[in-house]
Amino acid sequence: MLNKLTLSDARGKLQAGEITAVELTQAHLDYIKTLDDQIKAYITVTEEQALEMAAKADKRLQAGEKTPLLGIPMAIKDVLCTEGVQTTCASRLLEGFRPPYTGTAVQRLFDAGAVMLGKTNTDEFAMGSSTENSGFFTTHNPWNTNRVPGGSSGGSAAAVAAHMAMGGLGTDTGGSVRAPGAFCGIVALKPSYGLVSRYGLIAFASSLDSIGCFGRSVEDVADILQVMAGYDSKDSTSYHTDIPDYKARLQDGVKGLKIGLPREYFIEGVQPATEKAVRAAINHLASLGAEIVEVSLPHTEYALPTYYLVATAEASANLARYDGVRFGVRKSSGDGLWPMYKATRGQGFGAEVKRRIMLGTFVLSAGYYDAYYLKAQKVRTLIKDDFEKAFEAVDVIAAPTMPTTAFKIGEKSKDPLEMYLTDVFTLPSSLAGICGLSVPCGFDEDNLPIGLQILGPFMQETKILQVAAAYEYSTEWHHHEPALP
Ligand code: GLN
Repeated sequence: MLNKLTLSDARGKLQAGEITAVELTQAHLDYIKTLDDQIKAYITVTEEQALEMAAKADKRLQAGEKTPLLGIPMAIKDVLCTEGVQTTCASRLLEGFRPPYTGTAVQRLFDAGAVMLGKTNTDEFAMGSSTENSGFFTTHNPWNTNRVPGGSSGGSAAAVAAHMAMGGLGTDTGGSVRAPGAFCGIVALKPSYGLVSRYGLIAFASSLDSIGCFGRSVEDVADILQVMAGYDSKDSTSYHTDIPDYKARLQDGVKGLKIGLPREYFIEGVQPATEKAVRAAINHLASLGAEIVEVSLPHTEYALPTYYLVATAEASANLARYDGVRFGVRKSSGDGLWPMYKATRGQGFGAEVKRRIMLGTFVLSAGYYDAYYLKAQKVRTLIKDDFEKAFEAVDVIAAPTMPTTAFKIGEKSKDPLEMYLTDVFTLPSSLAGICGLSVPCGFDEDNLPIGLQILGPFMQETKILQVAAAYEYSTEWHHHEPALP
C-alpha cells in the first residue's frame, strides 16, 4: 500500500517517476475510506480537490522539480483557514463556514506542492487535551481505539500515525501539537512563537498560538517547518529572522552538547513507565556523547494557573466575534438582536468553550484585571526568565512530553481540572514562546507510545531537531506501528 511508505521513500519514488502523486493521493483517500470510520481523524475529506492538487504536482514532477513536499499528501487541522473549504474549528457554531482565503502556512505548503487530503478534528477552538471537546465526534487513538489521541490537534496526529496522511499541521497554544504527537507515537514540532505566520489561523489565545507539524520522522517535520517558516507581513507578530536550513545539523550527533534535566519535570504523579522510558532516552543521549546537567525551572508550578488566566482572557476577546452575524451559524428565536446572540452562542458553543469565555471575561473585568490578568502576565515573565537562565548553562532541555500515556476516552472528560493537569510539561514552554518537540522514546505496559520532549531556546529549532535526530537515528521506536488493517 503506497500510503505505508515513509515520506522520504515516497518522495524518491515520485521524483524517479515510479509512482505518481495521483496514485499516492488515491491510496491515502482509499485508506481513509477503510479506516476513518474507526479513527475519526477527519471532519472533511477534500477528495476532489486533493486529486486536482495531486495532478498539478505530477506536472511539476514531470518537469523535473525536486522539492521535498511536492506531491506529498497531508492533513490540515480544521482551525486553519482554507479558501472555499469548510473550516469549523470543530465547533457547531462554524459549521458550513467557508473562508474566503487560505492562511499563510497552509498556502506555503500548497505552493510547495503538498496535497491537502482534508481537514482534521480538534477540540472545539483547540481548547482541550484529548479531542473529546470536538463539537462533532471524538477521535480515537490508532494504538488503541478506546484511548484518546491527545489534543487538541488529535485528528492530524491520529491521521499521520495511522497512515491516513504522510504529514500534518496542528496548532500548539499550550501543548496541542506535542501532546497528541506523544500519545500517537509520532514526531511533533512546536516552533518558536512568531516563526510561522498565524495569518489564517483562527485565534484561540493570540499571544500563545503557533502552528506546528507532525511527521513520522524528525526529517519529515524539518521539511515541513522549512516550508512554513519565515516572516509574513500579514501577521504583526511574525518574527524577522533568517531562516536556516533545518536539516543542516541532523547528522551532527550530540557530542559536546549539554542537555538540561529540569528537576521540576521529574516529579511524583508521572507514570512510572513514562519516567523510566524518558530517563532511558536521556541515558542513551549521554551514551552518544551529550553531557547531562540538572537544571531548575523554579516557576514551573505557576505555569498552569498562569496559562489558564492568559489563555482564557485572550479567548474571551477572540471569540466575541461569533455573534451569529458574520460567521457560521445563526440561531434565531425570532424576537430581536439580543435573543439571536444568546441563541447563537448558547447553542453554538460547547461546554468547555463557554467555561473559558466566562472565566476569561471574569479575569478581564474591571475589578479583577489587576489581580488576575496583570499578575499572570508578570508570572509569565518569570517563567520565561527561568528558561533563559537555564539556557545559559545548557543547549536544550529534555523531559517527558506528557506525564502519562494516552488515557481512556471518557476518563477525564468530566473533570476539567484533571484534564488541565495533563499539560503541566508543555504549558511553561508555550508561555515562554520557545520551541519544542516530541519524539517517540518507548512504550508502556499497554503498548501505548511515550514521547520525549526536547525544548530549545527561542528560534533554535535547528538544535532541537539535531538532538531529536541523533536519538531517532540510533533507536528503533519510530519503526513501531499501530496494528492497523
Ligand atoms: N490543552 C491546552 C488547553 O486546553 C492546550 C491547548 C492548545 O495548545 N491548543 O488549552
